[in-house]
Amino acid sequence: MSTKDATPSARTLRKRKQAEPSLATPNSNVQKLLGLAASSCKIVVFSGSGLSAASGMSMFSTKGGLYERAQRRFKLQDGKKLFTYAFYEKQKLEAMSFFAEIYAEAIKAKPGPGHWAIAEMATAGRLRRHYTLNIDGLAEAAGMSAWHPTHQPQGQTVEMHGNIRQLVCVQCKGVQALTAATVKRMKAQRPIPCPVCPGGPAMRCRVMLYDDAEDDAIMPDDVFDLMEEDVQAADLILWVGISFEQSASTSYFRRARAFLQSIGRLGACAQAVINPSEDSLWNLTSACSNMGSMGVLETASRAPEAEDGKAEPSLPGAFRPNQTMGLV
Ligand SMILES: [Zn+2]
Repeated sequence: MSTKDATPSARTLRKRKQAEPSLATPNSNVQKLLGLAASSCKIVVFSGSGLSAASGMSMFSTKGGLYERAQRRFKLQDGKKLFTYAFYEKQKLEAMSFFAEIYAEAIKAKPGPGHWAIAEMATAGRLRRHYTLNIDGLAEAAGMSAWHPTHQPQGQTVEMHGNIRQLVCVQCKGVQALTAATVKRMKAQRPIPCPVCPGGPAMRCRVMLYDDAEDDAIMPDDVFDLMEEDVQAADLILWVGISFEQSASTSYFRRARAFLQSIGRLGACAQAVINPSEDSLWNLTSACSNMGSMGVLETASRAPEAEDGKAEPSLPGAFRPNQTMGLV
């Protein structure tokens, strides 16, 4: 820790004091959520990139984020294009070399307060399942097991969009962890053959791309059967660090709504949107009609002041590991 980190200026401390919410601060939504969490034992959590922002992972659409970097590197009109299957299909090796950089970022990152809080919910027996849109593997780094329909059906975290730390063969669906040797090949833009499919297609990162024609190799369809069971059994659903700017996240929210509605529990199961930006709830409300019947509990809250230009942690200060959302 640098001297600067050890001795924050009076101004920083003052700003932090102003910005940081605490349990002592009257905030009826946070208090209500803590009360709900304390009495819930089948919590389903959906998480997005905001959960990992505090770990230093690059966001996609923010300034200097992955889309901007991809745009500069590949001279694209829109950097988002790099993450489409159409781009990958044409320039597989170039795309894989970029993914090697995201992998390097992921293995350097450490789980943040949000990952630990969800892991503690699991340890306390309060978590039904954690569905993440993140590909960084940080939930597993916090000790949570990854769900797999056959190898690990009791897994705690479902990686909806894959995991940047793994390669998959689209022919035999075999998965292997990235190693120093495979990363070196990716950076050198050389294909990685599948060890069990000689002459078959090269392995690819197990990461869901937009309009991915090989999506069954990234996440099997069984995941929606699992989601239906989990959501219908849930007593609380948390949507953490999701901006609802992408169509995938709003479609998961709609599915959850349909699953609850099908058994007449729409409105009976509270759902909380946890995000420091109010845009998140606004985006969600804009994308879904009849939100009033959902029992959605807004807990938008300000995160601690960002320092030294680092990404602003996205979980409200009330959700710190030592408080574990009122579960201990
Ligand atoms: Zn294979």
